[in-house]
Amino acid sequence: MSFSSLGLSDEIVRATTERGYTTPTPIQIQAIPAVLAGGDLLAGAQTGTGKTAGFTLPILHLLSKNSPQNSPNRNAPIGRAPIRSLILTPTRELAAQVEESVQAYGKYLKLNSMTVFGGVGMTPQVRQLRSRVDILVATPGRLLDHVQQGTVDLSRVEILVLDEADRMLDMGFIRDIRRILALLPKQRQNLLFSATFSPEIKAFASSLLNQPTLIEMERRNVTADTVAQKVYLVDRERKRELLTHLIRQHNWFQVLVFTRTKHGADRLVKQLTEDRIPAMAIHGNKSQAARTRALAKFKDASLQVLVATDIAARGIDITDLPHVVNYELPNSPEDYIHRIGRTGRAGADGEASSLVCVDEHQLLGAIEKLIKQQLPREIVTGFEPDLHAKPEPIQNGRQNRQQQARGGHSNGQSRSRSAQPSSQKTAMRKGTGGSSKPNGRPPMPRLSSGQ
Ligand code: AMP
Repeated sequence: MSFSSLGLSDEIVRATTERGYTTPTPIQIQAIPAVLAGGDLLAGAQTGTGKTAGFTLPILHLLSKNSPQNSPNRNAPIGRAPIRSLILTPTRELAAQVEESVQAYGKYLKLNSMTVFGGVGMTPQVRQLRSRVDILVATPGRLLDHVQQGTVDLSRVEILVLDEADRMLDMGFIRDIRRILALLPKQRQNLLFSATFSPEIKAFASSLLNQPTLIEMERRNVTADTVAQKVYLVDRERKRELLTHLIRQHNWFQVLVFTRTKHGADRLVKQLTEDRIPAMAIHGNKSQAARTRALAKFKDASLQVLVATDIAARGIDITDLPHVVNYELPNSPEDYIHRIGRTGRAGADGEASSLVCVDEHQLLGAIEKLIKQQLPREIVTGFEPDLHAKPEPIQNGRQNRQQQARGGHSNGQSRSRSAQPSSQKTAMRKGTGGSSKPNGRPPMPRLSSGQ
C-alpha cells in the first residue's frame, strides 16, 4: 500500500516521501479515501496513530483540486479568498503541530495555512488573517475572539475538522464549538477525531455528522507492544532521587516527565537542575513563549528533560521519543494512555516508566484494568519502598477539582477563559462580567487536576 494508491496527488505523495513516510498507517489507509470521497467521518483514533496526516493529506488534495468557485459553497459571495478548511484543536501545541504538518505536506501546493491560538498577541494574527488563508488551525477560544472582533470570516468553510474532540469537550469547549458551528455554512464536510467515545461525544457526533464513515482504530493501549512499560515501586519522598538515578544510570536523553500539577512540575525542574540535569517545564501557567522555547529545545535534543502536565503535553509530537516517565500517575487512567502515547509512536520503540508510591496503588489498579494488563514491577536496589508505609490522600486531587468548579483551573488556553465554566465564559465575552455563581454543572470528570 502506498500513498499514491490512496488517490493522493503527486505533489502530496512527494512531500510525504520527503518526510520519510513510505507506507500509510492503518488509520491513513481508511481515513484518506473516506475523506477524498467527500463524506463526513467519525474516527476513533489517538495521537500517535498518524491521524494528523489521515486528515491533512486528503484535505490538501481536495482543496488543491477544487478551486473555491467549484466548491460546494460556490454561491457564497466572492470577495477575498475564503478560509476553506477549519481545523479545531484543544491546545495551542496541537494547533501548532497540525499546522506544521499542513505546511510540510502542502509544500508543493499553492495553499496557505495559519494558526490562531491564545497566549500570543492578536495583532499579528489579525494581519495574517487579512491575507489569503486556505486552512485555518485554531483553538476555539481565540477563534471566537477573532469572530467577535470581526477579523475572521468562516462563512465559506468547506471542511471542518474537530481534532481530539473528546478533549475539547472535557475542557469545556462545547459552547464555544457550538457558537463556531453556527457560523459555518450548512453544507460542508465534517471530520471528527476522538480518542474515546463517551456518551457526550456520541451525542455531539450525532448532532454534527451526516451519515459518517466510521473508523475505529484498535486502542493503542491494547496493541502498543512497541512501548515497554514498567512500574518502579518507590517511596513518595524518594521519587526525585530515583528519577535522577534512572536518568543517570540508563543515560536517558529526551525524557518527557509527567507530573500531576503545575507546581509539582516547577518543583521537579528545580530539583533536577540542582542535580545538574537540564530540565524545563511546560504547563498552563507558563507563557506561550516559554512553552514554545522549552518544546523547541526538547525537540532539537538540546534539553534532556521536559517536565509537563497532561494538558500542556497533549498532542505533543516528538518523533521517536524514547522515554516517558510518569513521575506521578495521572488521576484519570485514560491520561496514562495519552501520556505513554508520546513514545513508541508510529512503530518506533519506546519506554514508559512509572514511579509509583503507596498512595498511587489504586490509580495503578485502575490503569491496569483499563489497559487489560499487569505492568511489570521493579524495585531498584537502594530505593526499596517501606512496606509499612501508609497511603496518604493524593495531594491536590479534590482540592483542585473544587478549584476547577470555581473557575480556578488553567488548561493551556488563555487562563481566564479556560478557568471558567462555559456559561461564565459566555458572560465574560459579552462583557457582562462573569459572576462566580455556580452554573450547576459538575466539575469536568476527566480533567486531571492542576495542569
Ligand atoms: P499523529 O498521530 O498524527 O500525531 O502522528 C504520529 C507520528 O507518526 C508523527 O510523528 C508523524 O510524523 C508520524 N507518521 C504519520 N504518518 C506516518 C507514516 N505513514 N509513516 C511513518 N510515520 C508517520
